[in-house]
Amino acid sequence: MRILGIEGTAWAASAAVFETDDPDALRSGTGRTPDPAADHVFIESDPYQPDSGGIHPREAAEHMGSAVPEVVETALEHAAARHDGDGPVVDGVAFSRGPGLGPCLRIVGTAARSVAQTLDVPLLGVNHMVAHLEIGRYQSGFDSPVCLNASGANAHLLGYHNGRYRVLGETMDTGVGNALDKFTRHVGWTHPGGPKVEAAAADGDYVELPYVVKGMDFSFSGIMSAAKDEADAGTPVPDICAGLQETVFAMLAEVAERALSLTGTDELVLGGGVGQNARLREMLAEMCDQRGAKFYAPEPRFLRDNAGMIAALGARMLAAGDTLAVEESTVDPNFRPDQVAVTWRGADES
Ligand code: ATP
Repeated sequence: MRILGIEGTAWAASAAVFETDDPDALRSGTGRTPDPAADHVFIESDPYQPDSGGIHPREAAEHMGSAVPEVVETALEHAAARHDGDGPVVDGVAFSRGPGLGPCLRIVGTAARSVAQTLDVPLLGVNHMVAHLEIGRYQSGFDSPVCLNASGANAHLLGYHNGRYRVLGETMDTGVGNALDKFTRHVGWTHPGGPKVEAAAADGDYVELPYVVKGMDFSFSGIMSAAKDEADAGTPVPDICAGLQETVFAMLAEVAERALSLTGTDELVLGGGVGQNARLREMLAEMCDQRGAKFYAPEPRFLRDNAGMIAALGARMLAAGDTLAVEESTVDPNFRPDQVAVTWRGADES
């Protein structure tokens, strides 16, 4: 089975090819388990880089309009080079249906419908946040992990129960990456700010900032205001970056630990672009180690937005017969992970 994936929820115009020789392993109840080392993933991405400020939805959509056809063409050429029989070069087209920026999603949806109809293959509508979770579950081989999605526009804990990924806890305001990016814009750094916070924090001394966890939810707006005030008051920016990392990531680690405890699960996977931060991974690994849980973080190209995770989940959905009719394939900028009926896991899984 070979699947084309298309991603373009915000900044990454990306297309990928996921190929497996063992599609049965993608279905539960077949007695087979996926072998990520044997499966093949090709990813072609073209990132949008704002000249100034953060992501401008109109500029991002203009980028998608020109970059998505190009990355799709490259991915299809790759698929064609691996194709050695009759019939279409891919067996299905998976695309990010949401959440994300509406104008960008519409371009991705149009591209996916057009390729699927041209090749006469099924369309697979993927929830971007569930894809962040599932790529970690597929690569780790974990059975039923809790997932911390720490991305630009989102921050939440997901756990599987009764046919859906339930939101166990989430940010009450901005996503974690967007919060870091807002601070770095304030101090005059270009987008994206997260990697620059990580680099600067290495030379900084911890500064205390507000820590806001309420039950299973958390908030970043107060800490970002306090960080901006510190910068305006002349506190060295590397020190603030060190304080930001320690505080924000400790909040995420606390809620992740509580999610493990409440669900009784001993497996944690990480998803999202902020997961590229080594300090976050270190704190989560340490927390898991202390409670005897297993921790898995995908490699960076599968953490940040990428079409590889879309194609890989699309393959599971196709194996489960979970295809999408073109006339029902509208995109959804507010598509929550708990709206997705998880068709690709067995009915007996809890
Ligand atoms: P979503 O998946 O919610 O749609 P997104 O589209 O913004 O999010 P991602 O690629 O998941 O995209 O994450 C991008 C975010 O990751 C940006 O906010 C960026 O600053 C942040 N980021 C990237 N690298 C690092 C790092 N090393 N440390 C901290 N944050 C980082």
